[in-house]
Amino acid sequence: MRPLEIAIAGCGVAGLASAALLTRQGARVVIFDKLETPKPIGSGIIMQPVGLHVLDAIGAGEAMRALGAPITRLYGQSAPRGNVVLDVRYDARGKHAPSGLGVHRGALFQVLFDAARALGVPVESGRDVVGVSDGRLRFADGAESAKFDLVIDALGARSPLSHAAKAPLPFGALWASLKWVDGFDGAALEQRYEAARKMTGVMPIGRLAGETQDQAAFFWSLKHTDRAAWQAGDLEAWKHEVRALWPKTAPLLDQIHRHEDLVFAAYAHRTLREPLSRECVHVGDSWHCTSPQLGQGANMALLDAYALAAALRSQSDLSIALGEYARLRLWHIRLYQSASFLFTPAYQSEAAIAAWLRDWIMSPISRVPPAPAVLAALVAGELGAPLAAIAGIDRQ
Ligand SMILES: Cc1cc2nc3c(=O)[nH]c(=O)nc-3n(C[C@H](O)[C@H](O)[C@H](O)COP(=O)(O)OP(=O)(O)OC[C@H]3O[C@@H](n4cnc5c(N)ncnc54)[C@H](O)[C@@H]3O)c2cc1C
Repeated sequence: MRPLEIAIAGCGVAGLASAALLTRQGARVVIFDKLETPKPIGSGIIMQPVGLHVLDAIGAGEAMRALGAPITRLYGQSAPRGNVVLDVRYDARGKHAPSGLGVHRGALFQVLFDAARALGVPVESGRDVVGVSDGRLRFADGAESAKFDLVIDALGARSPLSHAAKAPLPFGALWASLKWVDGFDGAALEQRYEAARKMTGVMPIGRLAGETQDQAAFFWSLKHTDRAAWQAGDLEAWKHEVRALWPKTAPLLDQIHRHEDLVFAAYAHRTLREPLSRECVHVGDSWHCTSPQLGQGANMALLDAYALAAALRSQSDLSIALGEYARLRLWHIRLYQSASFLFTPAYQSEAAIAAWLRDWIMSPISRVPPAPAVLAALVAGELGAPLAAIAGIDRQ
């Protein structure tokens, strides 16, 4: 049978993972990205056990583990009382249950890019996608691609091939990758809060390929409407505010010299009813995006790619296979999008009631069994058993 000819729009997590998996099973794939040199933007990310499973299937898991830093715990204290309001331990699912892995976004991109290139996947850069029709991508310069059997939209949260997200969520965050300093837990994402108005966090993210310096991801919650004022404001006054919330951050803040040393990330929440548009199939943030509070976006993108490859392997009829892909992912995506939507205001909101509910209702309940194991499974990406569903299709 003739191999499937597939165009993938977007050279990010979802696009590269789809390209590697589909090429491995015999498809002919081309990736298109608007950047001249595709590269990741932002700082650190937690690879959850489900995401690591997909990286293993791609053959990039070992390379990722060699660069990342194991994360065994998510831990948060609220100021000024110092009460613990977040304490999720991955081993609450079982003593030998796999942990998360803190990674630099650049390291994740690199291992996926290397895997795709090792399989000979061509990447057409400088291709700004603006539309799709009849199996062809349309570019901003008026050119069109060749015709493909299938077009995959992996263009991320602002994909022009997907419905626009509603207004951005009120809070985003400033991020920086800094040199790791002693004094923080080397196996935890640690956070400090003042109500839900202020939040800062530090997480080990290992190192970039070819480097020896271990790094930390640092973030500070900021409303997108306050971004311009922050940008125009005094950096030292801002550092003073951060140190007042969490004094231990001082040696990290010493590494920040200009506003430009921090990147602002705005978040949006959007879920398409299903991943199939008339002209293409969506994977990753172009289908569903949300705040990174639950740390799932890249993992969900990897799961989408994994499910799409499994569905296309199991069915020779393209439209049946795409329906199968939607079925494999819908339930898990709805569950996590809802959880993220519910949890985000507890950490990023100006409503005093949100922090009160977090500190006095959610936090005490989270300590009563079976809540610790359920929360650990939620964070690990395992609620709804997404991998079992995908494995099931291969057994049919
Ligand atoms: C600050 C922050 C922290 C996060 N933390 C976590 C975390 O801890 N764990 C986690 O799992 N997830 C996290 N996420 C979410 C995660 O980064 C995303 O869900 C994931 O990157 C989505 O992958 P994607 O491939 O769908 O999109 P992207 O990675 O955004 O890739 C999209 C690609 O498409 C290209 N592109 C875009 N538009 C066009 C166009 N018009 N034409 C051509 N090319 C185009 C871009 O250049 C890019 O290469 C975080 C997100 C943010 C913003």
